[in-house]
Amino acid sequence: MNHRKNDVLTLKIEDMGNDGEGIGKADGYTLFVKDAVIGDEVEVKIMKAKKHYGYAHLEKVVTPSPYRVEPLCPIARPCGGCQLQAMSYEEQLRFKQNKVLNNLTRIGGFPESDIPIEPILGMDEPFYYRNKAVFPIRADKDGNLITGFYAGRTHNIINNRRCYLGVKENEQVLDIVIAWMERNHITAYDEAAGNGLVRHILIRYGFSTKEVMVCLVINGKNLSRTEDLIEDLREIPGMTSITTCTNTKQTNVIMGDKIDLLWGQTYITDYIGKIQFQISPLSFYQVNPAQTKVLYETALEYADLHGDETVWDLYCGIGTISLFLAQKAKQVYGVEIVPEAIKDARHNAKLNKIENAKFFTGRAEDVLPDKYEKEQIHADVIVVDPPRKGCEESVLDTMIQMQPEKIVYVSCDSATLARDLKYLCRHGYEMKRVRGVDQFSQTVHVETACLLVRKP
Ligand code: SAH
Repeated sequence: MNHRKNDVLTLKIEDMGNDGEGIGKADGYTLFVKDAVIGDEVEVKIMKAKKHYGYAHLEKVVTPSPYRVEPLCPIARPCGGCQLQAMSYEEQLRFKQNKVLNNLTRIGGFPESDIPIEPILGMDEPFYYRNKAVFPIRADKDGNLITGFYAGRTHNIINNRRCYLGVKENEQVLDIVIAWMERNHITAYDEAAGNGLVRHILIRYGFSTKEVMVCLVINGKNLSRTEDLIEDLREIPGMTSITTCTNTKQTNVIMGDKIDLLWGQTYITDYIGKIQFQISPLSFYQVNPAQTKVLYETALEYADLHGDETVWDLYCGIGTISLFLAQKAKQVYGVEIVPEAIKDARHNAKLNKIENAKFFTGRAEDVLPDKYEKEQIHADVIVVDPPRKGCEESVLDTMIQMQPEKIVYVSCDSATLARDLKYLCRHGYEMKRVRGVDQFSQTVHVETACLLVRKP
């Protein structure tokens, strides 16, 4: 049977794609259905028909899956942020466990029976976990100030002040700032024209200190009439830092580089485990510190340090993993491309009185071979936590030459992880342990930690 655009049909969703879309078959023809949940019987309309597969719009859930739940957020479906809110959390975890396993078998080429996968570590509270939120402020066509999130793949804002992934303080902050703007006729930024003053509101929360930071990103040098804004924001328990950040460029980049203090101090403090971090509006910081701790503790357990090891931490960011490892190793070296992150890493080391961590600015693919060739550096353990695209092959080659006893690979994309593991396992390493950690419930993302040991 030929399937065409606009055909309406009923099918059972039998699998989930990597982006959280439901997958079902109608007479052997595969359809991808966004917003459908595995186990659903659905009525769909074909939007795009290719020869062997197509994309369909979910028209109606005929029989809901046993894993289907009512999303907490009323705009979960149109909003681009969450892909899995209509799925029970248990099933989300099963989806992520399978995603890691599938990538390791399909891309990594590991037989399933050889993969030493441990059960994924889920979150205690799968909502309200993000410590950072950035809300764009815009005017709608009637001139009313709105804020919220972009609808999937667009720049259209769905007006919403309550996001269930963020902390409850976010909504209070937005109410106060927007009311202040309305009272004082302060304009919102207009992306197309490049005028208007307030672009974004950045809010950060220290889960372990309960400190709150608010930063208004503005298309101008400063804000006036801020007395009552400050007074109202200070009513929020834990308010610690109120700043502006100037960004007058007509760009998609949210933050500028100049921070000005309105009230309090320019940073908040937070902890991951015992390690303290000072976070400014411009610092990179993990958005889910509770699960970051779980992930890095898993990495630390895999590294199994006894105190006499030399450890390299590649793609070290602000040194979170390095400082974790330094508590148990003789010496840690971190490598990171962003100079500001290295500055933070050194500052954080000092703050925590950690003296056995040293940081280098540069690309891992330059720094590591350079140090290896010129200084014959040695590593007992190499930890990597690369961005989504994984490691450059040249980095993997240097790692292989250095012959560390162990490699601990922390990854935010199990597809590139699988590719890199395949390479390392062809060159003398063996996968000993692997485990998913959920840092981003309601979304399709999953972090993975993996232990590789050098074959004798
Ligand atoms: N573990 C870190 C975060 C790692 S995220 C932390 O907790 O802070 C990946 C990091 O790799 C980012 O900080 C990014 O800036 C850095 N990076 C990206 N490409 C790089 C490269 N080629 N060499 C070194 N670091 C790189």
